[in-house]
Parts: sequence; structure tokens; C-alpha cells
Amino acid sequence: MGEELAKNANSIWNRCLQHIKSKINEQSYKTWFEPIKAQKFENNTLSIQVPSQFFYEWLEEHHINILTEVISLELGKNGKLAYSILVNNNQEKEKTKPEIKVNKENSYEEKLKNKYKYQNDFNKKYTFDNFIEGHGNRLAKSAAQAIAKKPGETSFNPLMIYANVGLGKTHIMHALVYETKKLMPQKKCFYLSSESFTSQFIEAIRNNETQDFVDYYINADILLIDDIQFLTGKEKTQEMFFHIFNHLHRYGKQIVLTSDCPPAQLKGMHERLLSRFKWGLTTDIQKPDFETKVAIIESKLLQNNLDIPLNLIKYIASSIDSNIRDLEGTVVSLIAHASLNETEITFDLVKQVLSNIVQKVETEINVKYLQKLVSEYMQISEEDMKGSSRKKEIVIARQLGMYLSKNYTTHSLKSIGEYFGGKHHSTVIHAMQAVEDMLATEKHIRKQLTAMTDMIKLKMPQG
Ligand code: ADP
Ligand code: MG
Repeated sequence: MGEELAKNANSIWNRCLQHIKSKINEQSYKTWFEPIKAQKFENNTLSIQVPSQFFYEWLEEHHINILTEVISLELGKNGKLAYSILVNNNQEKEKTKPEIKVNKENSYEEKLKNKYKYQNDFNKKYTFDNFIEGHGNRLAKSAAQAIAKKPGETSFNPLMIYANVGLGKTHIMHALVYETKKLMPQKKCFYLSSESFTSQFIEAIRNNETQDFVDYYINADILLIDDIQFLTGKEKTQEMFFHIFNHLHRYGKQIVLTSDCPPAQLKGMHERLLSRFKWGLTTDIQKPDFETKVAIIESKLLQNNLDIPLNLIKYIASSIDSNIRDLEGTVVSLIAHASLNETEITFDLVKQVLSNIVQKVETEINVKYLQKLVSEYMQISEEDMKGSSRKKEIVIARQLGMYLSKNYTTHSLKSIGEYFGGKHHSTVIHAMQAVEDMLATEKHIRKQLTAMTDMIKLKMPQG
């Protein structure tokens, strides 16, 4: 009897397949229809067995029209289709009509794990402990820490972090994995770059293993995809990612993404994918301020038991604009030099190392350099210094900039005025006097100015 039903079901389904085959492209047919098995036909309902929940969702989303069409063609208007879903492991999920058990190979998960062994592809040296917190990265870091404690349960799902290169996006992701594994070793954390994701997907299509690919990733507790800007323009991969994303989100699994620019600027990224990011938290990492740069250098030195004078640390911090990778590179080179040559770290060595790392180290003391220096020390933007705001701290920074320019460059008062947004030379004269007055009365200004002149002297020929 059962056999009868199956045979009948098979022949109906085979006719459906013929029809479907003529309507859709070969790739889709192979991926989404060949793996389906006809199960039985009863009460004018054809039951088909699909390999997974995800597969079912995909069919419903993409191929429902053609399925409806062939069913009504074969079974008439009242014909119905029922899915039964092969279940992974021992958890069971059934859809539409109760049906069918699974003959699951035990090694199935193992097989996938070997194929996509990316979950361990993270670097243990990136932890929250050695991630220096500063104004620019605090939100990203604390959101990631909260997620590590309760993946999928915070409102940061997805967490989307964007920033320029070298500002710590990858570091935060690895730290999140590290922390989660420490707290909950059983959680499946899959970290990979969007490029790996794409190439695995392409490979899976080529080998007719799209289903394995999907099964693997929808099994994640935390899926972390780094640098998703590389998904732009990759229609098919985005589409697959979109479905994996939806599936994970629906089942309360955590998603973490990074990008090198704000989502709105991801040209060639599907709108519906972008809109998903708004479900959670999107945050940037801003470039580190001067203090944070100093703290990062100090921490890298400490990790390597190296001690160098504070003024050299400050010099490095002020020479490297924002990229923390470059800060790190400088420290690593210094350590190498120091240990290979058993020498002290001198200003000359620092300068030499920096010139290899930073394309253009400003070696000249000019007005631009001084403006940047004051801007970093006083935490006032260069634009504000050149602008016309009368806010006290901005005025002070502007005056200090003019004062230093007068004392350390050969520019005329008129020319200095021009550098500061086209101010009249009398404004520069006034600044000279104002700074002299402040130096006489205000201790903290005196301290700031001394710190800045120390930096300038480091740059001067005799070191
Ligand atoms: P991104 O992925 O944004 O390009 P990375 O995470 O690769 O940047 O960071 C570049 C380097 O800088 C890494 O070695 C990382 O450890 C280091 N780094 C970045 N931010 C910090 C920080 N706040 N504290 C300590 N190290 C940092
Ligand atoms: Mg990165």
C-alpha cells in the first residue's frame, strides 16, 4: 500500500519536474529541485521531502509560483502540496503536514565541519583585554562585549561595525569569538571574511553542494562576516546571505558584520539587505585621538617588555594619523631593531622606522604641522582653528597655533593669518599678546605649550 502511494507520488512528481525543468535555468533546477524526493500522494495532496528548513524557505520564497502552477496542472485546482523537512541531528522540525523521519548520516555534521572549517579561523591574540578603549571605539567594543555574554539575546542583532582600515574591526570580532568560546564553549561561532564566504558559495554551486553550504551556516550560533563591502555587486551571494541572515535572525542567532564604510554608502548592496542592518545596532569606530594612540603604543610596548621615553611615544602618536595597524607596525619594527642590534631606541631610530611605515612623515616644521599638533593636543579640529568661532577653547587653540607658527617658522604675520582662515595680521599680533598673558597667569596653558614645544624640538635637526 505504502509503496503504491510512493509510486504514484513519484510519477506525479516526475511530471511536475519535467515541467519545472523547462521553465527555470539548469543551475536552479539542479540546486533546488533535484534534491527533492516525492513522498506520497493522498487526499489530493502531494508530499515532497526537502533536505532542510532553509531549503523549504527558499522554495517558498523563490519558486512558489512555479510550484503552484505545476501542482494545479497535475492535480487540478484543489491539488495541494505538503513539505516534509529532513531534520538535522535530533532536533525535529516539521512543516505544513506532519510527516517523515530522517535517516541522518552521523558523519554529516563532521563532513561539513571539515569542509568549512572556518569557525576556528580566529586569532587568539585579539582579545578585549588588549583592545584599548577610547572615545572612538567605546560603543563598538561594549556592544561586542554584551553580545559575547548573551549572543542573540541583546538588541544588537545584527551588530554592524563600520570604519576605515586599521581601526580595530577585525580585532573586535575575534575578541568576541574568543570571549564567547571562553564563556560558552559549546556555541558555534563562525568567523569569516565576505571574500571567503563568496568563494565558498561559488565552490558550492560548482560542486552542486549549495545545500551543504547553507546547512552549515544556518547552524551557527554566531555568524561573523568581516568586510562585507566585498559583497557589493555580487547578486547571488548577497541573495544567499540574505536568506541565511533571515533564518539565523528568526531563530535568535547572532549576526555580526563589519564594513569599511557606512551601510548607506555600500553601493551595489541590495536595499533589503541594508534595511536588515537597521534591526540591530550600526556603529562606527572613529579614528583614535591622541591619548588613545599613546595608550595603544604603551600597551604594545608593555606586551613586549620594551620601555621607551614618553616623548618618543608621543612623537610616534603624532606622526601616525589614524591607522592603528601602522602604530603597531612601528612598535614591532622598533622592537626588532632594539633586540637585533641591542641598542637603545633613539629619536633617530624612531624617525627612520617611521619613514618606512608612514608614506610621508612630516619632517619639516611648518604651519600645517603646527596646526595639526595643536589640534591634537587641544582636541580642537583644524577646521575650527581656521574658522571664526569665538568659543573660548577654540580661540585659545587658534591663538596657540598662531603663536607657535610665529616662533617656529619664518612666515610673516600676514601669511600666518592666511593659514588660519584668512585672518587679518592684527589678529595674529593680538594672539601673540594673548598667549604671553595666558602663559603668565594660567598654569595649565603653560603646561600644554611646554608639551607641544617639546614635540617640536624633537623634530628639530639636533633631535
Ligand atoms: P580593521 O579590521 O579595522 O582593518 P584590525 O582589527 O585588523 O583593523 O586592527 C589593526 C591592528 O590594530 C590590529 O593588530 C589590532 O590588534 C590593532 N588595534 C586596533 N584597534 C586597537 C585598539 N583599540 N587597541 C589595541 N590594538 C588595536
Ligand atoms: Mg579587518
